[in-house]
Amino acid sequence: MSELRALYQEIILEHNKKPRNFRKLEHATRTLEGYNPLCGDHYTLYLKIENDTVVDISFEGAGCAISKASASVMTTMLKGKSKDEAQGLFETFHKLVTGELKDISFETLGKLAAFAGVSEFPARVKCASLAWHTMRNALDAQSEPVSTE
Ligand code: ZN
Repeated sequence: MSELRALYQEIILEHNKKPRNFRKLEHATRTLEGYNPLCGDHYTLYLKIENDTVVDISFEGAGCAISKASASVMTTMLKGKSKDEAQGLFETFHKLVTGELKDISFETLGKLAAFAGVSEFPARVKCASLAWHTMRNALDAQSEPVSTE
């Protein structure tokens, strides 16, 4: 288990240091801000949706390592996904960080599995899920900034 924990830690640190898709997206069809006042995480998420598919996704902003790594991993997983698939991933991630998901393995979850340990730290759940909540609201075409409070 400790080897797995080290791998997960490594994924989070690496995505925090070099976040993927960390830029403003030109020609985004949806732009939404997300805040986590408890920790000070604040991001803007950009989505380009065509034919109910996420053709491009990016984010900007600042926050703790968990929130930034989570947003980064999320963008790598959502590009090319349909809205329904994105919604399914949101639900899987939500169950994962709230400790409801029983089958946690790297094989089935990929890099999402790195956030499994977050469920042990309730204050960190909001950090990890901020980008995901923002993404879901953006897909629903909501324009109010997302706040975890
Ligand atoms: Zn945070």
